[in-house]
Amino acid sequence: MTLPGAPFVARRGDALELDGHDLAELGRRHGTPLFVYSARAMRSALAAYVEALQGREHLVCYAMKANSSLAVLQLFARAGCGFDIVSGGELERVLAAGGTASKVVFSGVGKTRAEMARALRAGVRCFNVESEDELETLNEVALALALRAPVSLRVNPDVDARTHPYISTGLKDNKFGIAHARALAAYRRAATLPGLRVVGIDCHIGSQITQVGPYVEALDRLLDLVEAVELEGIPLHHVDVGGGLGITYADEEPPPAGTLVRALLQRLDERGHGARELLFEPGRSLVGNAGVLVTEVLVLKPGAEHGGRDYCIVDAAMNDLVRPAMYEAWMAIEPCRRRADATRRWDIVGPVCESGDWLGRERELALRRGDLLAVLSAGAYGMSMSSNYNSRPRAAEVMVDGERAELIREREALPELYARERLLDT
Ligand SMILES: *Cc1c(COP(=O)(O)O)cnc(C)c1O
Repeated sequence: MTLPGAPFVARRGDALELDGHDLAELGRRHGTPLFVYSARAMRSALAAYVEALQGREHLVCYAMKANSSLAVLQLFARAGCGFDIVSGGELERVLAAGGTASKVVFSGVGKTRAEMARALRAGVRCFNVESEDELETLNEVALALALRAPVSLRVNPDVDARTHPYISTGLKDNKFGIAHARALAAYRRAATLPGLRVVGIDCHIGSQITQVGPYVEALDRLLDLVEAVELEGIPLHHVDVGGGLGITYADEEPPPAGTLVRALLQRLDERGHGARELLFEPGRSLVGNAGVLVTEVLVLKPGAEHGGRDYCIVDAAMNDLVRPAMYEAWMAIEPCRRRADATRRWDIVGPVCESGDWLGRERELALRRGDLLAVLSAGAYGMSMSSNYNSRPRAAEVMVDGERAELIREREALPELYARERLLDT
């Protein structure tokens, strides 16, 4: 039986499996907290975009901030995928994982000169420029290196992605992108700067989007600009519609990637832009449902009988998986071995000294100390947002692929936590 929203997670008898691998066994072998990813789930999520784009000029750039572990990047690089990066550190990771700079688009509102120079020398495909100031800086950096920077302007289309305010990025009052009303002037300026070469236009309207409508609206706003910009003799090769497609955590029903792609291709055709290259920057939708976080029950503190709550304290915490604490995100939690015992409504919390340190509230589960639980759909914005808060070492990661289960990240060792720190001399 597969579980809703996580097609590669299934129950076989009482055991919980990720693509045929027993999660309890992996948790015991490698220790917890442990992230486990399915390579097949990631490849199939990518294929959903790529297959719908067949016959069109296109590039899918994995927004690697969702999960930037080297083996994950290696998997996508081998599948021919490009990357959407937001820092110089991410560029180094792509290169270390065997990715090619010519398939990298560089997004982000605050790139430093050093990051720009490194990306220029590496030969990234495009800078997604987010302000008029950035155009000037990038031009200076490129001229100093006797190079020309390929640029796309990230336009803020002012459409409502209808998602959580923290992850909505396409409205006028967001910090991201160039206001739609300023974009034409910014393109005129970019076209006059000798260190720049205008190659495209982009937007990114938010994250965990569950409808096609906002994307089509955003594309329409972009195409209005493409037409206006090209009328001035500034050709735009590609249109990049960003990422943001949602996944199923609970009962959300986002459109499949193929449905989204086809709706956008149809709109391009209707407006006579069918030959234009289309770029996507999906993050969550490529990796989210491909991963789980395995954690052990450390302590059970039932308190409901005394007017309190039933607390289940596990060895994973907000430093490992911050989404519930940060966005009040609901993530499914399943026992790695189902028990026939009576259930209670447990609040699943971590050991960190913060009341906000929770993974799930009021979950009807039969639990005993030492049991392993799996937080589902933890492949995106889990490990990549993890921290060492409370001096907790970062979790280990395993990738399963067919028969194989490979450790792709060792658990951090305690001395690594303070390896770069210095005691005072006096
Ligand atoms: C975060 C981000 C993405 C990916 O968003 P998802 O919701 O993970 O698909 C794409 N493009 C840009 C510029 C981003 O900042």
